[in-house]
Amino acid sequence: MTVSASTPSFPSRLPNVGTTVFTVMSALAAEYQAINLGQGFPDFPCDRKLITGVNEAMLADRNQYPPMIGIAELRNGICQKIENLYGHHYDPESEITITAGGTQGILTTILACVSPGDEVVIIEPAYDSYRPSIELAGGKTIFVSLQVKRDANGQVASYEIPWDELANAIHSKTRLLIINSPHNPTGMVWQKEDLDRLATLVKSTSTLILSDEVYEHMVYDGAEHHSVASHPELAARSFLISSFGKTYHVTGWKVGYVAAPVALSKEFRKVHQFNVFTVNTPMQYGLAAYLADASHYLNLPAFYQVKRDFFRAGLEQTKFKLLPSPGTYFQCVDYSALNIPEAKLNEADFCKWLTTKIGVAAIPVSAFYDQATESSVIRFCFAKQEQTLATALQRLHNL
Ligand code: GLN
Repeated sequence: MTVSASTPSFPSRLPNVGTTVFTVMSALAAEYQAINLGQGFPDFPCDRKLITGVNEAMLADRNQYPPMIGIAELRNGICQKIENLYGHHYDPESEITITAGGTQGILTTILACVSPGDEVVIIEPAYDSYRPSIELAGGKTIFVSLQVKRDANGQVASYEIPWDELANAIHSKTRLLIINSPHNPTGMVWQKEDLDRLATLVKSTSTLILSDEVYEHMVYDGAEHHSVASHPELAARSFLISSFGKTYHVTGWKVGYVAAPVALSKEFRKVHQFNVFTVNTPMQYGLAAYLADASHYLNLPAFYQVKRDFFRAGLEQTKFKLLPSPGTYFQCVDYSALNIPEAKLNEADFCKWLTTKIGVAAIPVSAFYDQATESSVIRFCFAKQEQTLATALQRLHNL
């Protein structure tokens, strides 16, 4: 007798979601041996001291479950850092939670505060995890778009916060607003006045804020990062999310944190404990030891500014039009003025072509929009060794 086995079908929780663009483009880059300036990660090693710290923790048998909220040493270090940089005290015991990277912090925040039917406002272009996370919570995503400013030739010149649209989108049903500065993919950085304006906008509402600040230590030209933690009114209603992967060149370690007032952290932890429970122990000890030396993150803007300026200077010699990059490790360019037929391709196809035929992978900015908005703009990541950037520039130069 033969037994036929069949897998039951069931309705997808995320019917419109495919594989994330970062994974798709990294796979394509690997297949074609292209220089991967797509997914955001460094191609250079992290500090050996950081690895030594993790190794020491492992050898000291710190390999069992840490506390659900993360080890005290790391939470204390984060508390100190936020207090020194942004002047806000989060209680490490009740207001700081270690997460398995920024993306888990985002999902868990959303699951913790968004109920079915609640509205969540996001500002596009937006990191691709926001919307599916809102859908998993049963929330309704309300899209607001950054204003695209164009120059006299019709090429994209900059992006600006759409205050009027934002004011119209936020009302009594808005449970959560997601903001992101420095902004992925445009590099846009919020100013102090922007935080003031946002505080006025949400003042009479019960809207909470998720502030994705994973690129907080990548702000250039002497500018400052303005965290919600630097603004008491906003801090009182915000989940602040950051990531050690970005700051310490260890994106593969997947460790980040969420700082939020006690009432918000309490709800966050209810979900977190049944989501990942906690985050790997030795990494936390390694990071805690490393965090004690502030110079590592204080030097990061200068470190990345050299790379940004080198990459921008090279791109100036090409037919790509440079957009501003005041923050993050991303540089966006407009390709519409290239003198080749491919300049007419949509962003996704242009990136595929660039990866497979020219040998440089990039990310289409359209992937950060719900309805693919075509602006002929793609994103490069410059968190690379100078030689990597130089080789990529040579290839782009010929276009
Ligand atoms: N945040 C990274 C980027 O924008 C990607 C993270 C990921 O691949 N999930 O490139």
